[in-house]
Amino acid sequence: MIKLNNLSKYYYSSGSVATGLRKINLELEKGEFVAITGESGSGKSTLLNVISGMISYEEGELFIHGETTSHYDANDWEEYRRDHIGFVFQSYRLIESYTVEQNVISALLLRGVSYEEAKERTKNYLEQVGLEGYETQKGSQLSSGQKQRLAIARALAKDTEILVADEPTGNLDTENGKNIMKLFSELAKDKLILVVTHDYEEAKPFVTRKIVIHDSELVEDIKLKDRDTERKDFLKTKQKSQRKYLVWNFLRMNLSSQPLRGVFLTLFLLVAGFAGFIFYGNILSNLDDVTAKQYSNTYFYNSSPLRLIVRNREGTALTKDDLAILQTLAHVEGTDLYGLTNDINYFCENGKDYITNYTASTSNDNSMVNSYETNIFLNDFSKFVRTATGLKQEDLLWGELPSKANDIVIYTTDDTKLKETIPYYFHNQRSWQTNSYIKMEMTICGILKKPTNQTYFSEELGQALVMSAWKTGAEPVNYLQILQSQGENNKLYKKATLKDCIIYTDATFDFTGQDIVLSKKTKQSYEECTKAYLTVSYDEGKGELYDISKQMNESSEKMVAVPEKIFEQLAKELAGSSQIGVYLEDYAYTNQVLEEIKRLGYEVISPFRASMRVYDPKKVSERLISLGIAFVSFAILFILEHILLRSLLRLKDEDYLTLRFLGMGRKIPVKIIAGEMFFFTISAFIGASFLIWISSGFIEQISHLIKYYKPAQFFLLFILFLCNIESATFGYGRHLEKKLAVGQKNGGRL
Ligand code: ADP
Ligand code: MG
Repeated sequence: MIKLNNLSKYYYSSGSVATGLRKINLELEKGEFVAITGESGSGKSTLLNVISGMISYEEGELFIHGETTSHYDANDWEEYRRDHIGFVFQSYRLIESYTVEQNVISALLLRGVSYEEAKERTKNYLEQVGLEGYETQKGSQLSSGQKQRLAIARALAKDTEILVADEPTGNLDTENGKNIMKLFSELAKDKLILVVTHDYEEAKPFVTRKIVIHDSELVEDIKLKDRDTERKDFLKTKQKSQRKYLVWNFLRMNLSSQPLRGVFLTLFLLVAGFAGFIFYGNILSNLDDVTAKQYSNTYFYNSSPLRLIVRNREGTALTKDDLAILQTLAHVEGTDLYGLTNDINYFCENGKDYITNYTASTSNDNSMVNSYETNIFLNDFSKFVRTATGLKQEDLLWGELPSKANDIVIYTTDDTKLKETIPYYFHNQRSWQTNSYIKMEMTICGILKKPTNQTYFSEELGQALVMSAWKTGAEPVNYLQILQSQGENNKLYKKATLKDCIIYTDATFDFTGQDIVLSKKTKQSYEECTKAYLTVSYDEGKGELYDISKQMNESSEKMVAVPEKIFEQLAKELAGSSQIGVYLEDYAYTNQVLEEIKRLGYEVISPFRASMRVYDPKKVSERLISLGIAFVSFAILFILEHILLRSLLRLKDEDYLTLRFLGMGRKIPVKIIAGEMFFFTISAFIGASFLIWISSGFIEQISHLIKYYKPAQFFLLFILFLCNIESATFGYGRHLEKKLAVGQKNGGRL
């Protein structure tokens, strides 16, 4: 069944050529038990390896079942080794991390036996070699005699018609050696058995043929006994192979046999993942070039990076409905219906925010509004108005939300402050002259739960300040008097029953540089009016519509009358505001929240970003450096991970080589490893996420970076890592495939 015809084998290594076999002619048949002897280095192992398709040959021909093998490709050799050859290696070639049982199971799995059946059959093979009871012991824990017997059990498990063994009894005592020889001779009834032995005397009672090799040549070939064979057809019907769970079964065995390796690899990937999270987060946080610019307060006095300004696309007024929508957005800390007030300063801490100059005379300190008080010097312009429109009752620990114009809500740990009255000063840097301010006595009506320095003001004050905010160069007094008068008119929007109304415009108010001309016919002039309703009064006496232009001419006090329909529209808009202030939990969420608000159909800007206008060369280079560091660290981490992973994977080279000798397909190892790595990566990522979550609790830098991650970015990071890990795996796979090109020229080394 095996025929060697003038077969020669040479070993080429670094320029020199060694002869392994020279012109061997040999014919071997089933039923033979052949002992191969010869001194060391004579070529015995080479002969076995050529016959079993482990190595290639250069000259001559090897026939298997009368068929030449010259046309065999890698797959044919693979199939040959898997289905026809059982091999007991001189160096055992056990998978040391596997248990005794798993070593035998591997061979059975590769034959296509199901895992459960393989486990069952293994008992029988272990019994045959006297290893019963050692099933769960690791290969590495066996004595060399036991290893040898396990190697034989594994070869037996393959149940092939050819069994070759390279010095199988070399490490056994006489008794055990004899037993193995006896076992071989029994098996030889329906197999071809080739055994290399250094101790021919031991084999002599059992063998049917003796071959002696000397200096790579066949020098003796004696048939000792007749073959004792029950002839069977060589090509027994092949087992229906069911290797579809092969990858899964090996994956399972690998994971269970070396749990510590799994833990180590997972930990390694976890640490890499965690570092990747930080470096990538640093890249994300530096992408925003705003950090490299200087703030310019030409447009916005309030330089808080947390503030966003939201407007309607059409410029129409926003209402509490809009506020309610914006309040529910993720990462929004608070909202303010009267966003225009957020650039107006307030001063409340005497000696810090403002300084009282007692040498100056105090004028009319009792009035609610006093813009000419001269004994006050405004000092700290860092506090900005926010109204309580975005607050809810549940935000308060004590008290109520503002119901009167001069009600305020603050945070304090001292609840006796409730109902206390404090003087507040307001100043609008945009519209008012330097050191002109209004003063109001404010009453604390509610105390907040969450600590803050911010004072929250009433809606009425907000409205009045909005009106004042429009006005350029005028004193704020007039607008505040709306509040002061406590008249009906400041509750304009409640007057839905009015037939018509009159709008008095302030004589000095002039937004466009012309007198306000309001016509009920043209939209443009109507819009002008919406900017101009400063005081509105209801004149029951004049129950008719005015000719507007005439009215303007006639009256020294400019009055504009509008019909009910327009009035109601005006009223609705007055109830709202032209811009809402939205406050972020953290600047890192800026892009995310901006996008979300745009998606809702609003116009939105970050006044902070809009005001960071000029690049600061020092900050630019700082940003570029940290971006560069983050990027380079990220890249190095990836490369390191890749390299380390490949060298870690290489530790398994020998095991996969062994499995290849047992007949594992070329593509299988990489699939097993890819599966393992996928599992480790997933575990590592879960672990890393958990670690990030935990550490963000007490490491501020991490809790800051987290904010730059959207789910998509987190996912991207995971995919990047998975790709890197799997590319290391497949890179290793290619190396393995080359190394494991067993039986091919320049292929695997034994
Ligand atoms: P034996 O098993 O009889 O001791 P081998 O078949 O191992 O002998 O070796 C036969 C000859 O081939 C020796 O000279 C040995 O040095 C050489 N040889 C064996 N394997 C290799 C190899 N992988 N590379 C180079 N030379 C080898
Ligand atoms: Mg040898």
